[in-house]
Formats: sequence, C-alpha cells, structure tokens
Amino acid sequence: MRESHHLLLSSLIFFTYGVNCAAPRTEPIHLKGKLLSRADPECKVFPGDANWPPASEWARLNASIDGVLLKPKPAASACYPGPDHNQSQCQFLVSGTSSTRFWLDDPLTELAQWTQGSSCVATLTPTGNCTRGGFPEYVVNATSPKHVQGAVNFARDNNIRLVIKNTGHDFGGRSVGAGSLSVWTHNLKSTQFIPSYKIGQYSGMAVRIGSGVEAWEVSNLMAANNISVVAAGCSTVGGSGGWLSHGGHSTVTSTFGLGADQALSLEVVTADGKLVTADPLTNQDLFWAMRGGGGATYGILTSVVMKAYPPISISSSSLSLTVSSTGTVRDAETFWQGVASYYKFSAKILDAGGYGFSYIYPMANNTYQFTTSSSFPGMASTTAFNFMQPLYNTLKGVGINVANPTVGAARPYGSPRGGTGDRPVNTRYRSRLLPRENWEDDSLFNQTMKAIRTAVEGGFDNNFYFHGTLTSPTEQVAGWPGSDSAVNPAWRKNRMHAMLMDVQPDGLTAQQAINRNSLMQGYMTLLRDVSPGAGAYMNEGDPGEPNWQQAFYGANYERLLGTKLKWDPTGVFWAPTTVGSEGWAVQVVDGYPNSQNGKLCRVG
Ligand SMILES: Cc1cc2nc3c(=O)[nH]c(=O)nc-3n(C[C@H](O)[C@H](O)[C@H](O)COP(=O)(O)OP(=O)(O)OC[C@H]3O[C@@H](n4cnc5c(N)ncnc54)[C@H](O)[C@@H]3O)c2cc1C
Repeated sequence: MRESHHLLLSSLIFFTYGVNCAAPRTEPIHLKGKLLSRADPECKVFPGDANWPPASEWARLNASIDGVLLKPKPAASACYPGPDHNQSQCQFLVSGTSSTRFWLDDPLTELAQWTQGSSCVATLTPTGNCTRGGFPEYVVNATSPKHVQGAVNFARDNNIRLVIKNTGHDFGGRSVGAGSLSVWTHNLKSTQFIPSYKIGQYSGMAVRIGSGVEAWEVSNLMAANNISVVAAGCSTVGGSGGWLSHGGHSTVTSTFGLGADQALSLEVVTADGKLVTADPLTNQDLFWAMRGGGGATYGILTSVVMKAYPPISISSSSLSLTVSSTGTVRDAETFWQGVASYYKFSAKILDAGGYGFSYIYPMANNTYQFTTSSSFPGMASTTAFNFMQPLYNTLKGVGINVANPTVGAARPYGSPRGGTGDRPVNTRYRSRLLPRENWEDDSLFNQTMKAIRTAVEGGFDNNFYFHGTLTSPTEQVAGWPGSDSAVNPAWRKNRMHAMLMDVQPDGLTAQQAINRNSLMQGYMTLLRDVSPGAGAYMNEGDPGEPNWQQAFYGANYERLLGTKLKWDPTGVFWAPTTVGSEGWAVQVVDGYPNSQNGKLCRVG
C-alpha cells in the first residue's frame, strides 16, 4: 500500500539535470526576451582547458591581493589513500569536530555535502579516492574589499566560474562549484555600532557589519551595546551574506521583519570590479534587488548597515507530543488533532509578534513525535503563559491532557552566543511558504493539515521529517525601506514556512538520488496543491524546485532579471536558481541531481 502510494507520487514529477554544450555561439542569446550577451564562450574555462590560467597568472593574482589566494585541499583527503592520508585526523573529522569550528573555518566546505558530489567526505570506510569534485580550485580569503575586487576582475577577465562562500550553510550548492575561483567572505569580520544613523525616512540606531560576520557575532555585538539586531536563530548562519540576500528569518521576524528588511545601506563589489554603495538614495535598483532577490547574482556584498533597536527580551513556551501506549497521546488520530490544534493556534502567536519552531518526526510502529517552541518577543513570561492557555484548553478538548508549562523568565534577545559544531551533512530541504489564507478558511486549513500528514506518514520509511517555521514578516512589520524590496512576496503573506527534510543516506548512487528526489517532490506537490500561487524560501529550499522563478521570487522575477542584466551582463556571478541562472547549467559528471560537480556551460 505504502509502496504503491510512493510510486504514484514519484511518477508525478519528472526531474531533469545537466545539459550538453552546443557548438560555440555566435548569435545573441535571449533570455525571456532579453539580450543576455553576444558571442560569449559556451562554457566557463575549466582546469585542464588550454586557456586555464597558468600558475604564473595565479601567482600574479596572489601578489595583487596581498597573498590571500589559497589552493586548499579537501579536508577529508585525510581519510583516503594517498599522500594526505592521516588516520587520526580522519577520526577527528568523523567524530571530534562537534564542539569546534573546524568545518566552519574551512575555506572549501559547504555543509550540504551532497551538492559537492560527495567526492571526498569524512568517513572511516572510504571507497575510491578523494577527488576535488564540486569544490573550488582556488579560494580568495578576502579580508578587505580590495581582495574581492581582485578576485572578481580575475574571474571575469579569464572567464572562470566565480563562487561566493560565506559560512557555507547554503542547502542548494550555491557556495561551491567545480573549477571555480571562490571568494571566501568569512574573514570580513568588522563590526560597528552606530548610535545615530539617518537615511531617507530612517533615523535611529544602526550597526555596520562586514559580510563575514555570523549570527552569533551579531548577538555579541547586541550584548556589548545593549541593542537588538535581527539575526538568524542558528548561531553560525551569516549575519548578512546569503541569509539576508534572500530574506532571512529569525525569532523576531514577526516583530521587526526579515533580515533583508533591516538593510539601510550596502557596500557591494559589482561585476566590473567596482566597489559601490547601494542604498535608498544611490543605485536604488541594486539596493532593491539585493534585499531579497538573492545572493551571488548582482554583486558581492562586503558590508551592510542594518537597523538596530532597543533591547528586547523573549519569553518561550515549549510543547511536545509523542504517540505512545502509555503517554498522553495514545493514537495517531489524536496526535494529528493535537498538531492541527497547535498550528491553528499559531495564527494568534504570529499576530502577537511571535514565532514558532516546530518539527514532526515519524517514528516506528506508525507513531510520531511533535515538538514546538513558541517565542514571544517583548512579552513578559506570565503574559506568555496566559496567552498559551487557550491552546491547552483546546488540546484537552481533543483528548490530550497536557499542562500548560510554566514559562521561564524572559531572556534578552541580545544575549552572548557562541558558534561551533556544524559539520557537513546530507540533508536536503524542500520548502513551501504557506499563506495566511490557509488559516482563514477551515476547509483549506484541514486540507493543509492533511497534506502535511500524508507527507509525514510517507516519511518514516525514507528518513523524511517535517519542519514548520511559523513567522509573519508582513509589509507593515517590514517598515521602511524594507517594504519596498525584492523579498519574495510570498513571505509577506506567510503563516508557516513548511519544510520537508530528507536525511539522505550516505553512499546513494546517482539513480537512487534521482528516485529519492522524485519521491520527495511528489510529497511537495501535496503542499503546492493546497497553496497555489504561493512560494518557497530559496535559503531553505531545493535547487530542484519546479518553476523556481515563480516559487523563489514571485512577481519580482522579471524586474530582478532586468537588474541582473544591467549589473552583470556577461554572467560573472552564477549559482543555481539565482536570477538569470537558467541561462547556464552544470554539466554534472556524476549524474547526481543538482550536483555542482561539473563544468558550467551556457544552455542553448
Ligand atoms: C543549520 C542551519 C540553520 C539555518 N537557520 C536559518 C534561520 O534561522 N533563518 C534563515 O532564514 N535561514 C536559516 N538557514 C538557511 C540560511 O539562510 C541559508 O543557508 C543561507 O544561504 C546562509 O547564508 P550564508 O551566507 O551564511 O551561507 P553561504 O552558503 O556561504 O552563502 C549562501 C548563498 O549566498 C551567497 N553569498 C554569501 N555571501 C555573499 C555575499 N557577501 N555577497 C553575495 N552573495 C553572497 C553565496 O554565494 C550563496 O549563493 C539555516 C541553514 C542551516 C544549515
């Protein structure tokens, strides 16, 4: 029964990847009716090509950028036969990095290792040899905008694929790329508190942060200056970079807006190698596009001025439901009623400026676990406790007798944080931004819950689970200038960012990965069907998202494409599902869907 259901779903989606390069192009290329470029080479120059720059050219680049050019080896080469083999180092990589910053400080690593082609993963049981796969060839370890400019000029002039990596958290292969020169913004770490900043309609506190600053470092800046700045819930996600460029949600997003809504001024290295300012008064089109319209597209952000607010404290309340014969939830039907009760109630949490962070895990014997944490910026703990009580009354009504837990003292949002522990994994995300309409109509709400349930029920056999982030960055909350930005319009109507998470097993063959992707896309179709015209969040979405232009950018796509063509007419910047990326594709050598292991070539 389960099997045939899966087959039916997988047949709904046909997934394509990779292209062949055609003969050299001499005609103008039109993309959605717009001129892309004339007589461009078909592919980016690749290592081994006759026109790949010789060592002397790389040395010249290195000299021009203060010696910050790196040619790193994949860290996991320690696990494979060959001159780099080092068993104790490999053991450390496999099991010893959890309280370190090893992977975060590695110039090559992207945390979603499957996007690189899994050609050199940390393992005690390696098969074959470590190969470079989708890892970049060279890395510019930028510590100043000048280094970024040098890298952009070199990549453009030599027609080399350019990659930008900040923290490497991207789930879709956007901070790696075979045969590329990578600009590593990690060490652009400047931070500054600006007590009084004025631009246009804004007058207030601000911070200026370098684009390598991470969320935990933003928290420390908050703590040091007794302020609040919107930063990702995960400590090691970028404080700007890709997080801000495509939206960027946080615990305080229903109160202050998305990361993109905070930007007041950007410093950007553009495709012509210039360092420009983009703000509400200067280069307005670039300023509009880079707040929500994606990273790795129009230029490289080197620093940003963001709004800062007075300190705020957050009260949090947790709920956990587990189906068990002895527990508070005895059967699956009651469990799903409990889940629906929470999600229905979450509209009130959002309207009060709150945030919800929930997971549903399928477990053995057709049982499930639901966990959620509800956060209330600016709300005292006793108020939060009283606020949650109606939910517990509803739960009792459906047969779930759990007590409303005491809410601990509200915690300052700007508390100091550390940032360690991330490591490469094989998780693959799929996203849907479920709109408020789905909460306003009971029938649609029930269909939405049914879609989630069907997806989760299919999950146990396949290591899938569900992640629902509840947040509401309306235009009103975004304020000025945030409400006039390229943020996906679907965010403005969002109730729940619904994600299906696929913990892909290690060692999948390409065909298994393709089959798995089809299966997962089938479940995603259920969520898309209950939210026609809504969108998806690229930062926690999938590079195989069908109709990604609409899903990730909505009605902004055409305008963004015009901005892309103006600022980067020859395609210096490229990453999958970024604006204009449909003009190029990776010639995947290993057959893995959406892998970055291959040459980047124009699509005919
Ligand atoms: C564990 C984990 C937790 C997460 N938690 C959250 C969360 O709480 N909220 C949320 O919204 N998202 C979250 N995300 C998703 C996160 O927003 C994305 O992974 C995002 O891409 C991270 O941006 P980054 O710059 O840190 O990562 P990177 O992978 O380094 O970069 C992501 C993309 O942005 C581009 N880019 C980076 N820096 C620049 C720059 N300076 N200029 C131009 N382009 C640039 C890169 O080329 C790439 O395309 C999480 C991800 C993970 C893995």
